[in-house]
Amino acid sequence: MSASDLPAILGGTPLRLEDPPAWPGDWPEVTAALNACLSDGSWGKYHGSNCEAFTEQLNAFHNIAETILCASGTVAVELALRGVRVEPGDEVILAAYDFKANFQNVLTVGAIPVLVDIDPASWQLDVSQLEDAISEKTKAIIVSHLHGGQVSMQPVMELAERHGVSVIEDACQATGAILDGQRAGTVGHVGVLSFGGSKLMTSGRGGAVMTDRSEIAQRIRLFTQRGNEAYPLSEMQAAVLRPQLERLDERNVVRWDSVRRLSAKLGQLTSAEGVPILRPLIDACSFASDDCPAFFKVGLQFDPERATGLTRDSFSQAMRAENVALDAGFRSLHRIHSKRRFRAVGELPNAILCDEHVLVLHHPVLLEGEHATQQIYDSAARICRHAAEVAAATA
Ligand SMILES: *Cc1c(COP(=O)(O)O)cnc(C)c1O
Repeated sequence: MSASDLPAILGGTPLRLEDPPAWPGDWPEVTAALNACLSDGSWGKYHGSNCEAFTEQLNAFHNIAETILCASGTVAVELALRGVRVEPGDEVILAAYDFKANFQNVLTVGAIPVLVDIDPASWQLDVSQLEDAISEKTKAIIVSHLHGGQVSMQPVMELAERHGVSVIEDACQATGAILDGQRAGTVGHVGVLSFGGSKLMTSGRGGAVMTDRSEIAQRIRLFTQRGNEAYPLSEMQAAVLRPQLERLDERNVVRWDSVRRLSAKLGQLTSAEGVPILRPLIDACSFASDDCPAFFKVGLQFDPERATGLTRDSFSQAMRAENVALDAGFRSLHRIHSKRRFRAVGELPNAILCDEHVLVLHHPVLLEGEHATQQIYDSAARICRHAAEVAAATA
């Protein structure tokens, strides 16, 4: 082992000399769109053609009847809950491992979150536990596609119809993803998108609600219209989002290629006993050739015991020193909220596993191609070779 093999956190040279790529990167089309806003005055306009055109573009892209633009993905989830008439005292089912604001939104509308576990086969909401979660008070289910994975929507919809409950499909992390011929966010009664700063399409903040059901759209409009738009997306935001949507499919394909390459490489990263150390949450081989998952984050399962005593935090810290944007995933919702706030189905053991073991790789590096996936693999391998020293240095 040469001196140059030393991980950056121990004083070696980072395997990636450059910082993790910035997001959003340099987009000539976005610069042009912003310049057009400056010259036609739409940067300061209230209503206008940019929001109208972007709405139509989203409707066509998703093949959906109605899209309502709004101020954030968080607001979009709240609007979706209101759109399907979730009221105080109702129950809303969601995965125990999910975006924190989804839990908060259920409380915001006065309802009670009901937490179900994660399916260890897909690392997504465990659809087989929904039946047990449903009660007389259940009004809706929030289904989030997380960390590149996707919940199979058909069984969720069948169950929901049987019980007369609504499904809110959170596609904030999976914008543009295609599974079974359908775009993420278009199968549930209402779908939700985010245009937050780190998301696959960004205008700093922003979001959208999508639905084929006019009564849901009407209820949402009724709530947002206060003589003016109470939760608007601006003309300038719509202008910068339009060229990003045009390139979303092309970029999702590039990201998917990178994830497949990375998954294959990480399969080679094993302990001396041949146990995988860093496993992708999704099984890249389980997708059909015309599926295209989308990756806001790539979820990885890190096994500390098998990586010779390295904790998840030590490992991700060491990876960040190599200039790889790797962080811990979400906290499990039942571990960060008082038990008085929610009902849970069972002990949620897999949500606990996620809480303790999930790492997420931020998406921008996936557009960089083969050399970047190699850097990620090499960084991880080198840290594992020096596990004991890294553990000592980060303790
Ligand atoms: C980002 C995100 C949202 C919405 O977030 P905003 O930052 O409010 O746009 C909702 N759900 C999930 C799963 C997300 O990742």
